[in-house]
Amino acid sequence: MARPIHFDTVRKEYKTASTVHVAVDDLTLSIPEGSFTTLVGPSGCGKTTTLRMIAGLETPSSGRIAFGDEDVTEQSPQERNCAMVFQSIALYPHMTVRENIGYGLKIQGVPKAERDELIDEAAATLQITEQLEKMPAELSGGQQQRVALGSAFVQDPDVLLLDEPMSDLDAKLKAELRVEVQRLHQELDATVVYVTHDQTEAMTMSDQVILLNEGRLEQFAPPGELFDRPVSAYVAEFIGTPSTNLLSATVDESEDGYVLSAPGFDVAVPAEHFADRVGERVTVGIRPQYLSADDGTYGLDITAEVIEQLGTEFVVHGYTDDGSAVDAVSAAFGNVDPGDELDLSFEARDLFVFDDTGQTICHGPDLVRENLSQPS
Ligand code: ADP
Ligand code: MG
Repeated sequence: MARPIHFDTVRKEYKTASTVHVAVDDLTLSIPEGSFTTLVGPSGCGKTTTLRMIAGLETPSSGRIAFGDEDVTEQSPQERNCAMVFQSIALYPHMTVRENIGYGLKIQGVPKAERDELIDEAAATLQITEQLEKMPAELSGGQQQRVALGSAFVQDPDVLLLDEPMSDLDAKLKAELRVEVQRLHQELDATVVYVTHDQTEAMTMSDQVILLNEGRLEQFAPPGELFDRPVSAYVAEFIGTPSTNLLSATVDESEDGYVLSAPGFDVAVPAEHFADRVGERVTVGIRPQYLSADDGTYGLDITAEVIEQLGTEFVVHGYTDDGSAVDAVSAAFGNVDPGDELDLSFEARDLFVFDDTGQTICHGPDLVRENLSQPS
C-alpha cells in the first residue's frame, strides 16, 4: 500500500580527515502517498543521497524519516518495502530476463507459478514479453532498463525509487520509457520518487517537484507553480528552456511612483513591494517565451547573435546594448539573421523580480494592479 514519506530535518554529512561535507542539509518535507514526485537539481546537489536514505541504504547523520506514522530511520532496507532502480543497470548476466525479473521474488520464497504470473504481467506492461527468455547481453540498453524496472515492479513496493533510470538512453527511448514509467505508477499502489537532473523530465512527469540546491530544499511545488511562481532566481533559471533571462535593474522613485529602471526599460511597480527598496539593485527575470516580436507595453532591444530552430519555433540568442545576454523564443523569428536588431516587447505581468540575494520579491501578477499608473 502506498505510504507518504516524511522528512524531518534530515541531514547527511560525509566526513573526511580534514573536512565535513554536507550532502543533504536539514531537509523537511512530506511526499504525499501515491504521488509521483521528482527530485531534481544539478549533479552533486544530493539527489542520490536523499533517495538512498529513503531506501535505507544510507543512514541520516541527524533527523528522522517516516513512512506514514511509522518511523523508518533505523529500519533496514528489507523492512521498508521499497524498491529502487539505479542509474547504472544492474542485471545478472548469467540469468535470463525472466530469472532476473523474478530473482527478488525467488529469494522471498514466492512459488514459481505465482512468480511467473507476476513476471508475465510486468513484462506485458513494459512491452518486453518477447525478451523474457533472452539473456541480458542480447538486449538493447532501453530493454535492459525495462527489465530493471520490471524487477522493481513485481515486488509490489509501497515506495518505488528511481535514480536517473534513463540517463544513459537516447532521446527517443527516453520519451518511450517516460510513458512506461508513468504506466507503472498507475498500475502500482506505490509512492514513486524519481530522480533526474533533467528539468524537462521533472516538469513533464510529476505531480510535484523537489528542487535541491547544494543539499538544501530550494522549492517543493507542482510543475506549473515552479514555472510561474519560482521562489528564487535559482529556480527561475533551472526550470524552463531556454533559461529565464536575468536583467539587472535599480529601484527608483519617480513622480509617477516607483519604477524598476534598467538600460532598456522602466517598469512601473507598486509601492507595496518597492517603497522600502529605493536605490536597491534587483534582478528582473523574464522567460524567453514571454519576449514578443509584436508591440507590447515595454520594449527591449537586442542584437541577434545565434538563431536555432526548435520544431516550429526559433530561439534567438542575443544581447542588449549593455551586453546582457537575452534569449527569446517565438515562431515569428524565422527570418532573423545573426546581427539583426530586434525590438522585442514584454508585459509586466510576465516578470519575476528578485532581490540582490536572488530571493523573489514578487511575481508579475503582483506588479500589475488596477490603480498603478504606467509611465507615459
Ligand atoms: P546527486 O545525486 O545529486 O548528483 P549525490 O547525492 O550523489 O548527488 O552527492 C551529493 C554530494 O555528496 C556530492 O558532493 C558528493 O560528492 C557527496 N557524496 C556522495 N556520496 C558520498 C560518499 N559516500 N562519501 C563522500 N561524499 C559523498
Ligand atoms: Mg545521483
